[in-house]
Amino acid sequence: MVFDASLACAEQLDAADTLARYRAEFAIPTDADGNETIYLVGNSLGAMPHRARNYVTTEMERWGSLGVEGHFTGELAWEPYHELLTEPLARIVGARPEEVVAMNSLTVNLHLLMVSFYRPEGTRRKILIEEHAFPSDHFAVESQIRFHGGDPAKCLVTVGPRQGAATIDPDDLFNAIAECGDELALVMLPGVQYYTGQVLPMAGIVAAGHAVGAKVGFDLAHAVGNVPLDLHNWGADFAAWCTYKYLNSGPGGVGGAFVHERHLRTPDLPKFLGWWGTRKDTRFQMETVYEPIPTVESWQLSNAPILSMAALRGSLELIDEAGGITVLRHKSERQIRYLDYLLNEELDTKILNLTPTELADRGAQFALSITMPGVDGRAVYEALETAGVRCDWRYPNVIRVAPVPLYNTFVDIHRFVAILKDLLP
Ligand SMILES: *Cc1c(COP(=O)(O)O)cnc(C)c1O
Repeated sequence: MVFDASLACAEQLDAADTLARYRAEFAIPTDADGNETIYLVGNSLGAMPHRARNYVTTEMERWGSLGVEGHFTGELAWEPYHELLTEPLARIVGARPEEVVAMNSLTVNLHLLMVSFYRPEGTRRKILIEEHAFPSDHFAVESQIRFHGGDPAKCLVTVGPRQGAATIDPDDLFNAIAECGDELALVMLPGVQYYTGQVLPMAGIVAAGHAVGAKVGFDLAHAVGNVPLDLHNWGADFAAWCTYKYLNSGPGGVGGAFVHERHLRTPDLPKFLGWWGTRKDTRFQMETVYEPIPTVESWQLSNAPILSMAALRGSLELIDEAGGITVLRHKSERQIRYLDYLLNEELDTKILNLTPTELADRGAQFALSITMPGVDGRAVYEALETAGVRCDWRYPNVIRVAPVPLYNTFVDIHRFVAILKDLLP
């Protein structure tokens, strides 16, 4: 691929882009004057698919006209509504349908899955996470340790970047796992690190964790819909994710969970129960004998948030229509290379991209650190926002931008770099 820094080049890339028509399927957020922003923050809250609004409206209308009958009436009946999401989600995370369910929200699912998969016993009590884990994950893990009577100072093992590095050296993870050995109960790591955008070697992490007898789970918040995943074949024990980032389900959208097939028919596995986990055909007989659904659905507690699921359904349909995650990733890789090129060409030495260089080690998100002496990164971020760019600022010193292949254009990327260049001395 040969790029140049002209706007014409960006326009040609868009003209050749077979996914370009999907942008029209989204509402692109606007500024105060109603002009479309350069929306590069789909890593935080994906743009709204028009189809999401339509599907939510449909459910509001069904509620209005059917009332309680909506639970059992028609193809969109609410009782089994979550099943509409199962196969599309399974394709995205590389799982079998019985291993995937949409339910609750991310942090809740992490807790429910740790109830089953963090079972400290004897000297095997440690959990390994990353040093700069997303705070919610850190809190969840610490509170699980305390819940089991453990001391986080002894049971929580963290691995971070080496002195002076921004990203984690996978060897350090593998060594730390091996060092913990039979004291390690659980490895819980992100698929894609939220700050740097680094993809962790998930297959290798599963193998390393299992080699010492630990369970391995992933937080896929920044990975799902961003990079291809193969949870079943990697053999991960469990995973959880949110759907409002790269899966565009809207604020607070329903979460997702994966439990590997080998754990699905193990009646002794501890689990918190609710009525949505018991057999569907007898659930409404209201008996108090629990008969688990023989899929990950047995981790469900409550009847499902239909409005959020309707929005997600609209988005997942678009992803399937576009050809699925592999096709999206193909465009994403071109967008990554193009933004790499422009940053090098136009802003070399003024900006440091903390994201790894190799495509295999990164998703759509860039973590840009402003390195010019005397220039305040936070002020640059605010000026970008004023100029119509939507991105985000993460302390201590990073502007995160993520071109999303379903709706961002190459011209978006070009305009972003031109604006950033203008803002820097
Ligand atoms: C976005 C994100 C969360 C958010 O958790 P919620 O339970 O959805 O509020 C948690 N962890 C990570 C790693 C995230 O990226």
